[in-house]
Amino acid sequence: MCLFVKDVGIDLGTVNTLIYIKNKGIVLNEPSVIAVDYDSKDLLATGQEAKEMIGKTPENIIVVRPLQDGVISDFEMTARMLKAYIKRAVPEPSFFTKIRVVVGVPSGVTEVEKRAVEEVVRETGANEVYIMEEPLAAAIGSGLAVDNPMGCMIADIGGGTSDIAIIALGGIVTNTSLRYAGDKQNDAIIAYMRKQYDLLIGEKTAEEIKKKIGCAYIDKDDPESIKQMEVRGRNIISGLPKIISITSIDILNALEDPIKIIIDGIKKTLEEAPPEIAADIVSSGLVLSGGGALIQGLDKLIEISTGLNVSIAENALEAVAEGTGKSLESIERIQKYLWKGSKK
Ligand code: ADP
Ligand code: MG
Repeated sequence: MCLFVKDVGIDLGTVNTLIYIKNKGIVLNEPSVIAVDYDSKDLLATGQEAKEMIGKTPENIIVVRPLQDGVISDFEMTARMLKAYIKRAVPEPSFFTKIRVVVGVPSGVTEVEKRAVEEVVRETGANEVYIMEEPLAAAIGSGLAVDNPMGCMIADIGGGTSDIAIIALGGIVTNTSLRYAGDKQNDAIIAYMRKQYDLLIGEKTAEEIKKKIGCAYIDKDDPESIKQMEVRGRNIISGLPKIISITSIDILNALEDPIKIIIDGIKKTLEEAPPEIAADIVSSGLVLSGGGALIQGLDKLIEISTGLNVSIAENALEAVAEGTGKSLESIERIQKYLWKGSKK
């Protein structure tokens, strides 16, 4: 007997994991990071607490980002992390409650991994589990009318992957998945600082620079868009600590190549779409979601390079989670587009 249905959406992202519960909204938003004891493998920390340990761990602690480059690189750790999050965010179900879960996974995830993710979620007490490709979830979460015959386009730029898709009638018509997103931008900033200033910086600093002064396009009429900050690192020649001052123009140069790859991916997706649908996109435009969409001026640069109208989803960082959760409201209709493993 089942009196209640609880709908849960999970965004298993390469950088952040989010859990959405119907009527409550986002109830968990944590970095996809786990820390365990090297010898006993006991769980020490997850999420923000574990992320703060990165780069500072003594020998007896291992900190892992179990999803990297858009694939599950360490399945066991992904499962442990996901279980810990579900336990924290979703209250123990009563006998009368049926739990339905949609999990949004990076598009590089294989069939075997989808099955394994399903299994992990089932073990936490879910009765029905669906796996959804991220771009579809991002489009639903961004408020796009994915069911319409009129095509719409989304580019979800996360940490490990950029997923670009054209969607019509509830399904993906054309898509491109690139292993190029926020993480590679951090790498590009590290390489640039080393080459240009002989300065060695870590991943955390690179990410901080990107968020503070990162930009993809500089508006010449708005000199205030050029920001400046001080960066601490180690001089690679002397080996000593060094502080230098950099501006948005440095980061513009550093990010040129990784951003061009995303723009080329958008162009390729448009070229591969059937002509009528491509014509729809000219009027409906492109929506950007994911944390990578927040780089200053990226929307403008894509607009100039493609001629499309570009907008950033209001909830760029939450779009996938909200999309997975909301998709359950019309699960009967969109079921055919979801991956559903074993029936139990
Ligand atoms: P994923 O879906 O892979 O978990 P997210 O959509 O959560 O990724 O986005 C994470 C990425 O977005 C990270 O690379 C992070 O550095 C980047 N990001 C987050 N906020 C900003 C910002 N304000 N400016 C630029 N990049 C950002
Ligand atoms: Mg994502």
